[in-house]
Amino acid sequence: MKKLITIVAMVLAVCRINAAESQKQTVCPVMGGKINTNLFVDAEGKRIYVCCPDCLPELKQNPAKYIRKLEQQGVKLDAAPKPADAKK
Ligand SMILES: [Zn+2]
Repeated sequence: MKKLITIVAMVLAVCRINAAESQKQTVCPVMGGKINTNLFVDAEGKRIYVCCPDCLPELKQNPAKYIRKLEQQGVKLDAAPKPADAKK
């Protein structure tokens, strides 16, 4: 019985790690490619990463659409640095 409890506890721990990982943005909302962390658009106080330079104009045109799309997928976007911080 003790063994079973240990297994259940381990499974729960693994599930929790997976859930935390799935919240970070990993794919581009425009083309669905793997994100390039050097390419991003800041909008609504959030930072949205894209996969390639071609996706930047599309994302800039309609950032709200892509923010919604990512959030519906359970993605937690990074906060964009405040302009005051960026000047430092
Ligand atoms: Zn792209």
